[in-house]
Amino acid sequence: MKRFVYADNAATTQVSPRVLEAMKPWLLEQYGNPSSIYSIGRQARTAVETARRQVAAALDCEPNEVYFTSGGSEADNWALKGTAHLLAKQGKRHLITTNFEHHAILHTCAALEKEGFEVTYLPVDSKGLVTAEQVRQAIRPDTALVSIMYANNEIGTVQPISEIAAVCKEAGVRFHTDAVQAVGHLPISVREQNITMLSLSAHKLHGPKGVGALIVRKGFIPPNLIDGGGQEKGRRAGTENVSGIVGLGEAITAAVEKMEEETPRVTALRDRLIDGLIKLPKVRLNGDRQHRLPGNVNLSFEGIEGESLLLMLDYAGICASSGSACTSGSLDPSHVLLAIGLPHEVAHGSLRLTLGDQTTDEDVDYILEQVPPIVERLRSMSPVWEKIKDL
Ligand SMILES: *Cc1c(COP(=O)(O)O)cnc(C)c1O
Repeated sequence: MKRFVYADNAATTQVSPRVLEAMKPWLLEQYGNPSSIYSIGRQARTAVETARRQVAAALDCEPNEVYFTSGGSEADNWALKGTAHLLAKQGKRHLITTNFEHHAILHTCAALEKEGFEVTYLPVDSKGLVTAEQVRQAIRPDTALVSIMYANNEIGTVQPISEIAAVCKEAGVRFHTDAVQAVGHLPISVREQNITMLSLSAHKLHGPKGVGALIVRKGFIPPNLIDGGGQEKGRRAGTENVSGIVGLGEAITAAVEKMEEETPRVTALRDRLIDGLIKLPKVRLNGDRQHRLPGNVNLSFEGIEGESLLLMLDYAGICASSGSACTSGSLDPSHVLLAIGLPHEVAHGSLRLTLGDQTTDEDVDYILEQVPPIVERLRSMSPVWEKIKDL
């Protein structure tokens, strides 16, 4: 029986009914501008401030350390460009990141390099991990910022963020983390983990698209990315996306409430999927088995093209990805898979399945039933497979 299985939760997630219900009034009846003085305006202001407290509570920081943005990309741009421009005035023109960040970080770094900033791209190991020691050795007197993602969107690797942040604190260097894939899925304490700045996005945790936040610890504020009105304490102009912000607050609250129950459930589904598919010949698991997001499965099947696999899975009703959503459609294999040392031809045969709140046991059964014959069929048509199958 054909099913519809959404296994691309790292690309985006479905808005949950609870989040939608919370958002509706702010689109329909209480559509006021939070800056207006009459009651529907004041109510909207209250709703935005409630959401700010919800985000702060979920991440263990102060509400006045939460700045709403249009999403993860904007938060990443603001953290990096803002900090670079601010600290350049003190002669600090060096940044440290890794070579397998999201493009919102890598392309921002490239833009800063064009302006004359210097960026060190730390290599990750074959599992996609970077160490605090690597960071320690890369820090220089002119280092303005270290930015390392909490968890990778393609291969799910979770970095030793507390250790890295401790090294940065000791050296007196600001630390930013793109935690878009981690928020709502892993327990995070901005305060205890010594994180200076953190980016998050609602649509990766069953909230709406086009809204996110940058957390900035007190005592440090990068210059504005968007100038205009006085919203977000004058730091990020533009009439607030009230319904979106309310949706983010509700989504992050729901995710934290459910984490204790969801993490073991999703982890078990993930492991069953990995164990079932890894049995096929010439398959490798990309990323680390232990330090891994609960819902992430990323495998490379030698001798096939990821794109063909995706098309056949789509035909079977399964939504998956073979890299990051932004790079599919380009012929270059993902920079993440190349960063962990996969040869081009192996990287091309990769499949990412990302599970979430709605994934069921039956969904996993269905994927396990559909993928092996599709892989076999594609390999039977592949001239490459003929050559490598007995190696
Ligand atoms: C999705 C994603 C982003 C971008 O977030 P948007 O809200 O879509 O702009 C940034 N970083 C990571 C790791 C992501 O997965």
